[in-house]
Amino acid sequence: MIGARTLGATLLLALAGCDSAPRPANIDALRERCLALEQRALEDNRAIATLTSLCDTAPKRLSGTDGMFAAERWAAEQLRLAGCDDVRLEPVMVPHWRRGEERAEVTSGGTMPLRITALGGSVATPAGGLEAEVIAVRTFEELQALGDAAKGKIVFFNRPMPRALRRTGSAYGSAVPQRSQGAVEAAKAGGVAALVRSMTTTIDGYPHTGAMRYQDDVARVPAAAIATEDAEALAALLANGPVRVRLVLGCETLPDVEGHNVVGELRGSERPDEIVLIGGHLDAWDLGRGAHDDGAGVVHCIEAIRLLCATGWRPKRTIRVVLFANEENGLRGAKAYAAAHDAEIPQHVAAIETDSGGFTPLGFGCSLSGPQAEAVHRLFAPLQELGAGQFVPGGGAGGADIGVLHERGVPCFGLWVDGHRYFDYHHTAVDDVPAVNERELALGAAVVAYAAATLADR
Ligand SMILES: [Zn+2]
Repeated sequence: MIGARTLGATLLLALAGCDSAPRPANIDALRERCLALEQRALEDNRAIATLTSLCDTAPKRLSGTDGMFAAERWAAEQLRLAGCDDVRLEPVMVPHWRRGEERAEVTSGGTMPLRITALGGSVATPAGGLEAEVIAVRTFEELQALGDAAKGKIVFFNRPMPRALRRTGSAYGSAVPQRSQGAVEAAKAGGVAALVRSMTTTIDGYPHTGAMRYQDDVARVPAAAIATEDAEALAALLANGPVRVRLVLGCETLPDVEGHNVVGELRGSERPDEIVLIGGHLDAWDLGRGAHDDGAGVVHCIEAIRLLCATGWRPKRTIRVVLFANEENGLRGAKAYAAAHDAEIPQHVAAIETDSGGFTPLGFGCSLSGPQAEAVHRLFAPLQELGAGQFVPGGGAGGADIGVLHERGVPCFGLWVDGHRYFDYHHTAVDDVPAVNERELALGAAVVAYAAATLADR
């Protein structure tokens, strides 16, 4: 889509031209705005109450469920209360997968329960479960090299997330193909199920769920995640000889349901047709209450609007909040947004996503590079005083929900936070409000507000 790319680039090139000086002319005013947003966010301390309200109102809000509708109603009301001029629900068909009974145990040499959870989208086991010998692998290549040795077995993918990587998101990216693709690879090798080490660097007792997919020409075998403590125990048993496991999964996929992206706007005073999008996702995995993933992102966006209104500021361009449906198991909301707004994608000046948890904000990853990135970096310099001045150009789409916009040439930004603890909670039963610090969450909202306001005023 050359047209979109050209206009997105043009707007940012204009911006780069305005700010080719090492110091933007209005930097003192920007700094003042930044500090005012920080102080207001910390003083008012609204973010944690908003998060608690979401998690109490819609504790389980996986796509297609009643909780999804409760979350949509809540979000629309919150955006109105925060000060949006216009709030609407935009329809999108979303998948409806339901977790059922789930358990597993070692059955050879005495029984030992294993803490497991179905991966999202998995098929059920046969009624009563399946029992088979386990074969452990660390990579798909290792599995393929086994030949027939995996036939009839439960394939146990046990490669840990690499601890040495500073960015836990990168460690996740390195290990997560086992989860997303493990069932397909297990089936190709003749396996009867996939058991995947949970995506966390820590050793704990919580299985971490997450999305997985099937492939049309490959048999669909059940897939579950196993807590890292039990993955270690299972590996130790396997070192001493064959191990059999019984796996029971009762999950099912129901017909698609009509859900919604929830969209709210602060209309621009001078160029209302030009849009700075800020977004997170409203759905969450069903084990916990989705406080970090992505209740925090939802709250960052709502509170950013509230902070901007409270400080009496009016954007020149429109700031549009999009709380996306179905990020976790389908990205249908992101695709529907891009389709419904196809004609105005060239009018998107920037998109900012927050989907890394409610931890201390550190700065932004940015899809831009070269002079455009340098220009934005200079505009974001006041964030250094909040400890959120990191700025990494060439950092990809900035998030899954704005990936489509990135592909269409829209400059994209992802809020970066301190990610060392994110995978202690990610997609587990303990992703809940007590895991979120109120000051860290509030600061994230101030940082998103500053970034959106600054881009909307250029
Ligand atoms: Zn998320």
